[in-house]
Amino acid sequence: MQYVHDFHTADGSARDLLGGKGAGLAEMTHLGLPVPEGFTVSTSACRRYLAREAAPPGMWEAIMEGIHRLETRTGRHLSGSVGAPLLVSVRSGAKYSMPGMMDTVLNLGMNDSVREALSRWSGSERFSWDAYRRFIQTYGKVVLHIPGQAFEDILTEIRVDRAVSDDSQLSANDLEQVTSAFRAVVAERADDRIPADPEAQLRQAVDAVFDSWNSDRAVAYRRLHQISNDLGTAANVQMMVFGDLGDDSGTGVCFTRDPATGEKIPYGDYLPNAQGEDVVAGIRNTLSLDDLGKRHPAAHAQLVKVMSTLENHYRDMCDIEFTIERDKLWVLQTRIGKRTAQAAIRMATEMVEEGMLDRSEAVLRVDPASLEQLLHPRISPKLDVAPAVVGVGASPGAAKGSVVFDAETAVERTEQGLDVILVRWETTPDDILGMAASKGILTSHGGKTSHAAVVARGMGIPAVTGTAGIDVDEKRRTFVVGGATVDEGDIITIDGASGAVYIGDLPLEEPAETPELHLLLGWADRYRRLGVWANADTGAEATIARERGAEGIGLARTEHMFMGDRIDIVRRVILSEDAQRKAALEELKSLQVTDFVELLEAMDGMVVVVRLLDPPLHEFLPDRWDLEEKRVEALAAGQDVAEIETMMATVAKWEETNPMLGLRGVRLGLIIPDIYRMQAQAALEAVAKRREAGGRPRLEIMVPLVSTTEELHRVRAVVQEEMDMAPGTADGSSEVLIGTMIETPRAALIAADIAQEADFFSFGTNDLTQMTFGLSRDDAEASFLGTYVEEGIIASNPFESIDIAGVGALVEQATEAGKSANPRLQVGICGEHGGDPASIRFFHQAGLDYVSTSPHRVPTARLAAAQAALGESTSDASV
Ligand code: PEP
Ligand code: MG
Repeated sequence: MQYVHDFHTADGSARDLLGGKGAGLAEMTHLGLPVPEGFTVSTSACRRYLAREAAPPGMWEAIMEGIHRLETRTGRHLSGSVGAPLLVSVRSGAKYSMPGMMDTVLNLGMNDSVREALSRWSGSERFSWDAYRRFIQTYGKVVLHIPGQAFEDILTEIRVDRAVSDDSQLSANDLEQVTSAFRAVVAERADDRIPADPEAQLRQAVDAVFDSWNSDRAVAYRRLHQISNDLGTAANVQMMVFGDLGDDSGTGVCFTRDPATGEKIPYGDYLPNAQGEDVVAGIRNTLSLDDLGKRHPAAHAQLVKVMSTLENHYRDMCDIEFTIERDKLWVLQTRIGKRTAQAAIRMATEMVEEGMLDRSEAVLRVDPASLEQLLHPRISPKLDVAPAVVGVGASPGAAKGSVVFDAETAVERTEQGLDVILVRWETTPDDILGMAASKGILTSHGGKTSHAAVVARGMGIPAVTGTAGIDVDEKRRTFVVGGATVDEGDIITIDGASGAVYIGDLPLEEPAETPELHLLLGWADRYRRLGVWANADTGAEATIARERGAEGIGLARTEHMFMGDRIDIVRRVILSEDAQRKAALEELKSLQVTDFVELLEAMDGMVVVVRLLDPPLHEFLPDRWDLEEKRVEALAAGQDVAEIETMMATVAKWEETNPMLGLRGVRLGLIIPDIYRMQAQAALEAVAKRREAGGRPRLEIMVPLVSTTEELHRVRAVVQEEMDMAPGTADGSSEVLIGTMIETPRAALIAADIAQEADFFSFGTNDLTQMTFGLSRDDAEASFLGTYVEEGIIASNPFESIDIAGVGALVEQATEAGKSANPRLQVGICGEHGGDPASIRFFHQAGLDYVSTSPHRVPTARLAAAQAALGESTSDASV
């Protein structure tokens, strides 16, 4: 087993083995780019280390051999006292980038005599102390687990004392003092000392980097991004180069295109006289690439070349970390850059125009789930309000909410149902859960490449960073902007595209589709086989769905038309006897005709599937305790309570212990047949009206919750009777199909038989999941399902992504049986899974004809269906 791979000889495509960072370093070395020498300790070493809780046999020997080769190639030595000593970084790097979640130790190899050698080599006493304090700081944090704040506090104190704004202004003496204070922190806080022997340091650092795979924040990040816990991280050991040697040095991060907008202009941040982590941490506000060009013309020109080499090589936007050491450019890392959905789409379409990609590759480039980001609301462009301050627009979309100043409060208040904006000096990887809970993020420091920006873009959460015009006081829980103070709990609105921040609550509106998205989805439509329909209950919803490319309405839930102020009529239908019921039904019918006309008009020429009433009865009945309260009040007021008591008796008669398994769907339709008859009449009348108006209505009627063929047979007979009497249907001029939902396991199992009575099937995967697992869809997610997923008892929430092995098997089998029994049978799915990319891939493979999903997920479904047809895994496209 080979655990150590030199950058020179490693396979640059082996991301599984080397991690993304290691693979990138190897590939860049092969391309002849100026990469500091080093080697990668593989992910398989990490997996074995974690499994055994100790280094696997042979790993240390291989690492030390790697160090000897490194010494030979660089001409530098660990503990060297002549010339430049060899210092190394030990950096984590997993297959999928997890920005800032795992750990890095810098300047490893440092001790008192090495510091002196470093001072001699660099000619800078100041630099040597800065290097020493950085070593103790990263080693103390990562290996000895001392909270980083202990070191930050010392730096803050000395900055205040010396009246300077950043560390680069501290003198050699100051940094020597900081180093002593850091040592004291280590002596006080940690059981172990930092060994002077570089080899011992290296062993502990590699262990710590491997251990950081299982840190709480890394585990939380993987859960949010659905990255497997089994992959492990690699550890990259690389010769240090120094960006903090003085004003002729510096460090930066750049992207070959703008990661927020996708525009084809290199984007980057540069910090003179600094090390890499200073840029990512947003410690100081940065300079632009243009400024870099003015300071270091040759290195800048070389960087521009490196950017184009890497982009052409990877045929994608790259994110590059670089250091300039005394005017010489070094490239420290590259990876495929994270980007917003908007940027991903723009880049993919422009790269097709540039001839870099073909259309199918462009379609595969964009993560379908990320399209929902684009449907973030925005601040109305018509609104003419001046922002209080403008920062860096780091992750687009507008958000508003009440201000909180730490991650825990963000989570707490979100759980209480509040929308919050997390305001920080700068976020850190420990804020990850608070960021995920927030509607938006605002920081006073950092830029487009700082932690807040990278993580927010990945999560699709609007973020404004680097807002120098605000003064955040996290302890007092306020921030000051232009003289005004904003307290925790006050409402602000942010625009993550422009960087504008407004105090107060601004109205937000739905965004429009961009021309690039339109183009990409147009290409996607040509590749996909699955139809994409929408679930919509009103004309307005149907209109949005159609604008977003829906080709039909796969589910109009008519019970939603019975809610609100119509509920009293529905109660009269359910609870009263014949004469009263008839009158109530007539009233409902005229309302339903209007509903159906609206839907058919919005979707003119396309199918509208009207599902007959499927009420979980308890949603329609008055609450027994409300009635009891009314009775007590009426009694106290000396009023007659006979009517209330009759109602209470009726409610008691209908009350069910398990309403979801009770008198729902077709069962109610057969027990009170007048309701379905009325709905069929209303739908057919709506068709007639649309035809009179010159429209092309295409109605289909769907029966819910069927589990026996006889149930469908009987409802079909009722609908057929109405059709026979309706003008235009009997003569075939407007054919109305009658089909059923397949949402009970029994229906799926007898699909061949049911298909004899059905023109179409639509899988109700919400109920089918509920009933196959025996999990209450109303309760399980709020109670134990989260723990099940966290603890790995099940891989994912089956209400979000289809359970392929169980529920999926029923879908597959019923589709095949149904289509064999009735070759004209159309098969769709209208449960929540219709908008989930992984589920869509499965429905494509299972041979369904269409998916139906909520209007805002229609673009996601179109793209996911195309990717499914192109037969590629979409998971890598988002990484
Ligand atoms: C389903 O069960 O998947 C479905 C679409 O119906 P509803 O969610 O209305 O029960
Ligand atoms: Mg259902």
